[in-house]
Amino acid sequence: MSPCPRTRRVLSVASECAPLIKTGGLADVVGALPAALEPLGWHTRVLLPGYPGVLAQLAEAGTTLRRVWATEDLFGGPATVRRGVYRTTGGTGGTELDLMVLDAPHLFDRLKLPTWDFHPESLEYHGLVSTLKAGMVHASQVTTVSPSYATELATPEFGFGLEGVAAMRLDRGEMTGILNGIDTAAWDPSTDPAVTPFSASDLAGKDANRGALLAEFGLDPAGDRPGPLAVVVTRLTHQKGVDLLCDALPGFLDAGGTVAVLGSGDPGYEFALGELAARYPGAMGVWIGYDEALSHRMYAGGDLVLVPSRFEPCGLTQLYGQRYGALPLVAATGGLRDTVTDATPENLDAGTATGFSFSDVRLGGTTDAGGLGFALGRAADLYRDADAWDRLRRTAMTTPVDWGTSASRYANLFGELVG
Ligand code: ADP
Repeated sequence: MSPCPRTRRVLSVASECAPLIKTGGLADVVGALPAALEPLGWHTRVLLPGYPGVLAQLAEAGTTLRRVWATEDLFGGPATVRRGVYRTTGGTGGTELDLMVLDAPHLFDRLKLPTWDFHPESLEYHGLVSTLKAGMVHASQVTTVSPSYATELATPEFGFGLEGVAAMRLDRGEMTGILNGIDTAAWDPSTDPAVTPFSASDLAGKDANRGALLAEFGLDPAGDRPGPLAVVVTRLTHQKGVDLLCDALPGFLDAGGTVAVLGSGDPGYEFALGELAARYPGAMGVWIGYDEALSHRMYAGGDLVLVPSRFEPCGLTQLYGQRYGALPLVAATGGLRDTVTDATPENLDAGTATGFSFSDVRLGGTTDAGGLGFALGRAADLYRDADAWDRLRRTAMTTPVDWGTSASRYANLFGELVG
């Protein structure tokens, strides 16, 4: 009998963690990575700020929190760390998270950071304090969430002033890009309770979800729009290229496409999208807000998911779209570049294409929406070829997007660090 591998421990310190608290993809990653690392011999404990909302949910779930540490003087004020195991059931599987919460939010203004560390090689950042920079300087290894983003960070355009530190760590082989995966139990179209079940080998349910989504948004009432149904699920920010969408979508809608948007954020973008939808009744619908179940229905119902980000460390929406047969149409930046294989004639012939990408989005300076518009046109053209679309969709749905490879890369990296 082979000996039981020794479980080693890793502490994951994060500002959010699904399903307890989520503003974006970080929460999904922090919530899902522990289960992926466990079989590889790494037990993860997650340390979260004790936000009132987190504490309330833990209480509601009956999670017993035991005080494991307390002080009257953490940087000049009292603080407590409490530990418990958070369990939920339901959906496609339960969640079990080994958690610690730090109850100390009143301390921010009393942080007494060491003055001897206030220099350009550490905390100092253009006369201000940057704890992010200090972390990047002092960490044994720096990881980010895609190989492309790791190299982009070392350029002035993406580094936002930290490009020097990033370039130094990259040159020394001390910075690694490891792609995020997704929780394929929670995001499985064949068992997802939020949608009509379907899979790559049985796509009938996909049509049912498409019809239901159109009805939910009041779209295509006459049933005669010939183009693809594009969905957008996003924070409405400059980063996510919402202005580019507003510029490019009229061409797509005029050509018979249909659009459903779920998002919230910048009021200017919320307004602009609402205006556009009002110009295209029955062809474009917008739901302003944050709705997890609706996001599942959007990926399940959509033919395309649009992600025209100006920068994207990894991105998860394109992976959810891929798994649910909503082909990702993305800007070729960061993790979007690394996870989506463009439907060029060569890639289609080789059977490796998983979506569409375009490459002329820039962070600084003016960006026009020409590349996005052209990619939307290519997607609409391919949609007319039902067989080609079907092949592309099946490839996308069966291309692995789980944590397997990436969890192993983390496990190896942790192993190297602890020796
Ligand atoms: P980011 O973390 O920059 O927001 P990601 O693509 O990494 O971008 O992750 C976004 C996550 O947030 C995905 O799980 C996506 O489905 C979800 N999401 C974004 N906006 C909404 C919304 N309005 N309603 C529901 N889920 C949303």
